[in-house]
Amino acid sequence: MTAPTQISLRPRLYQFPIGDSVITNVLEGFIQRHDMHPFVATNATAADVAELARMYRLPFPAIEHNFVSTVVKTRDKLIVIDPGFGSAAPAPNTGWFMEGLEGAGYGAHDVDIVLISHCHPDHIGNVAKDGVPTFPNAEIVLGRTEFDFWNAGKGVSEMRRPTLELFQKTLVPLKDQLRLIEPGDEIVAGLTAIDAFGHSAGHLVFHLTTGDGELLMLNDTTAHYAGSFAHPEWHFAMDDNPEHAAVSRRRILQFAADRTIPVVGFHLPFPAIGFVEQRDEGFEFRPATYQFNLNAGG
Ligand SMILES: [Zn+2]
Repeated sequence: MTAPTQISLRPRLYQFPIGDSVITNVLEGFIQRHDMHPFVATNATAADVAELARMYRLPFPAIEHNFVSTVVKTRDKLIVIDPGFGSAAPAPNTGWFMEGLEGAGYGAHDVDIVLISHCHPDHIGNVAKDGVPTFPNAEIVLGRTEFDFWNAGKGVSEMRRPTLELFQKTLVPLKDQLRLIEPGDEIVAGLTAIDAFGHSAGHLVFHLTTGDGELLMLNDTTAHYAGSFAHPEWHFAMDDNPEHAAVSRRRILQFAADRTIPVVGFHLPFPAIGFVEQRDEGFEFRPATYQFNLNAGG
C-alpha cells in the first residue's frame, strides 16, 4: 500500500470589498480530527451526525476544523479580528496569521485595533508574547464580561485550565492598555459588538456597516458549516456554556438570515464567507463563490 498523497498547497488569503471597506480573510491554519461526533454535537447521536455528513458529502468521523481570522480596512483604520494562535500554535498547520497579514500587504505596525471576540487560545494567542504586544501600535479591544470572567478565574472548567493560563500570560500584563466594551458598543464608527454569550462567558459577534455594505462576523457562534447551521441546538464540544451558546446561536443566525447580509465565521471552511438561509427548523450556510469579486471596485 502506498502512503496517502500529501497535498500542501491551498488558498490562505481572500480579499473582498464590503461597502467602503476592504476585508481580508486569512487562513490561520487548520487541524484534522477524527471525532466529528462528539466534536460538532455532544448532545446528538453519532448516527445523526453521520447522516448529516452523508447529506453534505463529507467524510465521517474525520473532520477538518479551520481557523480564519478577519482583517478589516475601513477608510481610516486597520482592524485585525482574532489574530490566531501566534506562538501558542498547537499543531504544524497553524500559526499562519502573520505570514497572511504580510501577504495582504499589511505589517504588524500598521494595525490600529486588535479586536478579540473571546479569550480561547486560537483567538488570543497572537495578541502578545512575554508581555510584548504583537501589534505595537494597536489598541486591544475585548468584551468586559469576557475579560472579567477570565480575570476572576472562577468556575473555569478543567478543560479550560490551559486557556486560563494563556489568558494570564497574554492579556493580564496588558490589563491597563485594554479597551473593554459591552454589547451594543461601537468599536469604531459602523462596527458594533453584539452579545453572543455562551460559547464563552462573554463571546461577542461584530456587525460592520460601511457605506452601502454590511458584514456580520460570527466568530465562534458556529463551529461547523453544516451542523451548527442545520442544528443550532447542537452543542459544540468547545462551548463553555452549551445551553446558552445554543440560544445565542439561533438568535444570531436568525439576525443574519432576516437581514440577508454576508457572514464570515472563524471556524467556517476557508474562505469562510457566505450567507445564512433559513431552512426547516434551522438554517443553511450558502458559501460565497464569485459574487464579492464582481463587487470589487463597485
Ligand atoms: Zn475558536
